[in-house]
Amino acid sequence: MTMKHQISVEPEHRGNGRYTYNSRCSCGAYVYGLLSKGAAEAAGRDHQRKQGDR
Ligand SMILES: [Zn+2]
Repeated sequence: MTMKHQISVEPEHRGNGRYTYNSRCSCGAYVYGLLSKGAAEAAGRDHQRKQGDR
């Protein structure tokens, strides 16, 4: 059990009141342009699960 992969989700303003969400991991992995906060959190969890497997 390691806690190396710490995900943070950041909203990014795209204009006209629209936002996308970025998922950034403390290891440097970065996923951006997700359409909802939930999707960004899910991407983060998916990353953690994959990285934590070994
Ligand atoms: Zn990571």
